[in-house]
Amino acid sequence: MQSNVIFTSLPGPTRKRQPSPYCYRLTYRNPQPHEPGCVLLWEVCGGRQEYQIALEREATGKLRWHCTCADAVYRGEDSPHTCKHVRGLQALGR
Ligand SMILES: [Zn+2]
Repeated sequence: MQSNVIFTSLPGPTRKRQPSPYCYRLTYRNPQPHEPGCVLLWEVCGGRQEYQIALEREATGKLRWHCTCADAVYRGEDSPHTCKHVRGLQALGR
């Protein structure tokens, strides 16, 4: 059985960005992942706050990541910037 909680290490929220433990919890999985809409929803714990990451499938079939952290919001959703939470999740192969 696949676990819905993954632990990983990411650069921490402190100035030194020392690696800190982060936890991803899968809160939603679309039963029809190939339809446009939200495919997966994750909760991220370990940072200053809890964040939410959404993986969305656009009508074109392209996948798009969203994160609610300040880094992702301020640097613009239309730029190629991907925040460390999303990168961490991608690195885990999910
Ligand atoms: Zn983020």
